Amino acid sequence: MAEKIWANSGDSHFIEAVEAWSELPAHLAERMPKAVKDPDGEFETVTVDGQSFRRKLPTPAQQEFMERSQATAGVGDVTVRLADLTQEGIWAEVVYPSLGMWNSMFRDPVLVREAMKVSNDWVKATLLDASPRLIPTAQVSMLNIDDAIAEVERTAALGFRCVFLPTSPPAALDDYNRDSWEPFWDACVAANMVLAFHIGTDPIDHVGGEVIGVAYRGPGGAVMNHTNSGYSAMHAAMKMVASGALDRHPELKMLVSEGGAAWVPYIGDRMNEAYRQHGFRVQPKLSASPKEILYRQVYATFQHDETAVATMTAMGYQNVLWGSDYPHLEGTFGHTQETLHHLFDGVDEQVVHRITIGAFLDLFPEAGEPQPGRVS
Ligand code: MN
Repeated sequence: MAEKIWANSGDSHFIEAVEAWSELPAHLAERMPKAVKDPDGEFETVTVDGQSFRRKLPTPAQQEFMERSQATAGVGDVTVRLADLTQEGIWAEVVYPSLGMWNSMFRDPVLVREAMKVSNDWVKATLLDASPRLIPTAQVSMLNIDDAIAEVERTAALGFRCVFLPTSPPAALDDYNRDSWEPFWDACVAANMVLAFHIGTDPIDHVGGEVIGVAYRGPGGAVMNHTNSGYSAMHAAMKMVASGALDRHPELKMLVSEGGAAWVPYIGDRMNEAYRQHGFRVQPKLSASPKEILYRQVYATFQHDETAVATMTAMGYQNVLWGSDYPHLEGTFGHTQETLHHLFDGVDEQVVHRITIGAFLDLFPEAGEPQPGRVS
């Protein structure tokens, strides 16, 4: 048996129990996301805050494949989850709850404000208090920045260390490069919160179609859609760097989960080229080059990417984090050790430590070094 490699993960998922919504007043609870199977059995209709869309249910063959590949219980059961993590060799992990995935479908600011509070309280009791290995993201309104600020402050006081943000805000809010976000960045610095972006959360992925996340159909669609979802990582980082938001807040760190790492040097060069060659029309001016700010304050996670080690060793980007994406299909559940050995066998020990443990500890020092003997 090969020696177990322990790693922290910057990317995993959990689904809040629907029972949590009973904490809301009835007139709000009834507008929370729900899915009802259509009579044809092939589709389901999802309704969120009065808006509906249909999505295709997996075929029996797809269902079987997913059940073989996924840890279905650990997505909603903390005890199963912690046992899975130990089995896989994952010590601490950032956990994205799921309500925020519906951000772009909510219309009522009061509903979303109250729902995020109830969800965050439930997540604290269920995940945050269950184990120091679980680092859940707080979720905040994407309809009103003042509400989002208040919830960042409230959840930081509860012990949350990071806040989930979609890679682009819904149309109700300005994009992240605009000044209206400045008080939110200030609040995150004051509350010591890491910004946790997750790919595939642009509003376009959530509305107007039958299936979430589907931009392309026809030949190549599955590969094209998965590849495409990663581009939103670049968009989020680009906006935060070029707008000066990160430059004005040097303590602010952002994590971009699931989009890989090799894009970081690429957009760094691209932004530097624009900053230099188009300097006459660049505003705002930054105190360092875009690439320096990107390399300093942006952290990126990958699962399987064979280019990730070289992104650090050959291209000098130190904030590469591994992520399991537990328990999703594109993640490593069931083959985490195989993946880690494939990636890291023969690689310099300090590089391995930085990618599996160290970069994560920059963001969440309280997670500490792995303690394999501990059970929770
Ligand atoms: Mn993920």
